[in-house]
Amino acid sequence: MPKFTMRCFCCVCGKKQEYEFNVPPAPSMIQEEIVCDNCGDRTHVLLTSCPNCGKTFKFFLSDLDFMGEIKQLSGVYVRLIDGIRDSLSDYIEEFNVPVPKKWSVKLSCTCGHDYFAEIPLRQLRTS
Ligand SMILES: [Zn+2]
Ligand SMILES: [Zn+2]
Repeated sequence: MPKFTMRCFCCVCGKKQEYEFNVPPAPSMIQEEIVCDNCGDRTHVLLTSCPNCGKTFKFFLSDLDFMGEIKQLSGVYVRLIDGIRDSLSDYIEEFNVPVPKKWSVKLSCTCGHDYFAEIPLRQLRTS
């Protein structure tokens, strides 16, 4: 995996920080936790890189554990639908609810390439 250096300013104390990450090419994303070496503030960062040129990367800072939250939410949704399907199984033959397969974001690179980065979401049980 290509290594990228990320420079940013701590959103709490403003100190300049530098981190190194191995960033997978899109559509894969990774989530890392960064900790300010000055004030100890913790932030999550989502990272992905351009699959075309492999030279640039994008990051999203989030106080939330974004990847965890979005997977947890989709898990709750899917369990809910599974439950409804089970409770109706005596009455109906087929129960189809479209469930989003992924969360995705469109990005553009300075090389001119547009691409998507994705987080796969939980899916319904197949029975
Ligand atoms: Zn700080
Ligand atoms: Zn590119």
